[in-house]
Amino acid sequence: GLTHTAVMDWMTRFAATVRSVEPELTALDQKAGDGDFGANLVTGMDGVRRALDALAAGAGNGGSRRGPDAPLDAAARVFLDDVGGTSGPLFGLLFQELADALGMAADPPGTAALALGTAAGAAAIQRVGEAEVGDKTMVDALVPAARALASCEPTADPAHALHVAAVAAHRGARSTTDLRARRGRASYTGDHSRGVPDPGALAVALLFASAHAELT
Ligand code: ADP
Ligand code: MG
Ligand code: MG
Repeated sequence: GLTHTAVMDWMTRFAATVRSVEPELTALDQKAGDGDFGANLVTGMDGVRRALDALAAGAGNGGSRRGPDAPLDAAARVFLDDVGGTSGPLFGLLFQELADALGMAADPPGTAALALGTAAGAAAIQRVGEAEVGDKTMVDALVPAARALASCEPTADPAHALHVAAVAAHRGARSTTDLRARRGRASYTGDHSRGVPDPGALAVALLFASAHAELT
């Protein structure tokens, strides 16, 4: 199940992953954007890592801070409060909805809570950013991930569900390559965005892929 430790490990692995692919994310946002996406995401996840260290050290200790939602809640606060770019607050919304869904589920939360949280995250991002699937944004990875999770048995092993979500998100991210951006700064570059996969969509795929290691 999605224990506190499993979610801590998931966030820690995602932080390491975004560090290792920062140059690629930066290059994509340089080709079709303003070049800051890699830095925005790495800065955010470095802040999350510090927040997780504080959580592990028991700062502000209270029972609820040890729940499976606590690491996601910490990530949401960092991204909503401190991270720049369009993507910062949008990732903050996704982390917040995942935290809320895991926090409300039976302990430990499973695939049903992941499906609810991901669907709510996609809805929140679409409410704020007004992007539809096909506009070449993170929505192109997140909506397929939410659909894939919803199609899993609610009682399925969450490790399996997250793997299925990662595959769907990655396929969605790759599908952005041939699209012309209709939202965000990439849309200002017109046809220059064609041939460049959307970095925000790739980051969503990496988020789900970072979770697939064995969950205890
Ligand atoms: P900025 O464009 O403000 O520099 P970032 O570089 O941090 O923001 O983030 C760019 C990413 O944000 C894009 O790759 C895309 O996935 C996502 N994005 C941009 N606009 C939107 C939107 N309206 N809805 C959803 N996602 C968006
Ligand atoms: Mg940018
Ligand atoms: Mg910017």
